[in-house]
Amino acid sequence: MQYIILDLEWNAAYSRRRQGFINEIIEFGAVKVDGHLQVLDTFSALVRPQVGKKISGKVRSLTNITNEELVGGTPFMQVMSRFRRWAGQAVVLTWGTSDILTLIENSLYFSGSEKIAFLQRYMDLQAYCQYRMGETGGQQMGLSTAAEKLGIDETAFDHHRALDDSLLSLACLRKVWDPGTVGPFIQNAQQQAFYDRMRFKTTIITDLHHPQIRRRDLMFRCEQCGTIARRLERWQLHNKAFRARFFCRNCEQEFIGRVQFKLKYEGMTVKKKVLPLPPAKEEKKAEKKPEEAPPALSV
Ligand SMILES: [Zn+2]
Repeated sequence: MQYIILDLEWNAAYSRRRQGFINEIIEFGAVKVDGHLQVLDTFSALVRPQVGKKISGKVRSLTNITNEELVGGTPFMQVMSRFRRWAGQAVVLTWGTSDILTLIENSLYFSGSEKIAFLQRYMDLQAYCQYRMGETGGQQMGLSTAAEKLGIDETAFDHHRALDDSLLSLACLRKVWDPGTVGPFIQNAQQQAFYDRMRFKTTIITDLHHPQIRRRDLMFRCEQCGTIARRLERWQLHNKAFRARFFCRNCEQEFIGRVQFKLKYEGMTVKKKVLPLPPAKEEKKAEKKPEEAPPALSV
């Protein structure tokens, strides 16, 4: 089994044809490794811009890539073919899915097809590292943050150049690598479903009347006795989640029920949490006049 860690740099360029901005890829960097994560080869290529004639100052200072260097680069579709030959059958990894989305965007723009020919199997390196580090929270971890948490000296890498970022990603992967756990993270990228999933935008549902919200998603049981608790107030939207006070008759205890609905490609996910009611806050709430209460959503 061979793996390729790919990193791209891009520049936001205005396209007259599209009457909008496109993230035009200006650099490919990748490292190929074997199943023990030993380096077999590297790939590095500058892409000659065809949409944005000049790269923005921000990108220039971030990457140190100059316009003069880019003029000597290779057109996007040629780099894609070269990369395909180089990649072979390897599993392709990127840190988060934004590189893949940008590849789809560029392929569509330059070839009219969203299909990425070199992508047969794909793995989101960021999701895997985060899983192995036990960081299962909703926030996606940046590469720098992960490197820091894993005790990797980032200064040894020329950050924000594609090849160095792929090598930094590899250093992170080595810290958490366990061949027995990667299987579920490898996706078949040859089916339309892969592209549909990639392009699907996860949304947080803020309307309790959404047809995929079920009644039982809004019911809460007392954590002590298991009795279905009674909701004491209207649901309130707070930090992209709904919350309300509940009361257990059995234990004569109040608590806060928190529920968040995320519509993902796979369907609706429901995250529920019971939070204890801080006594001070309770008093404060009781003192509050009704007209000062935050806008509530009724069910
Ligand atoms: Zn109870």
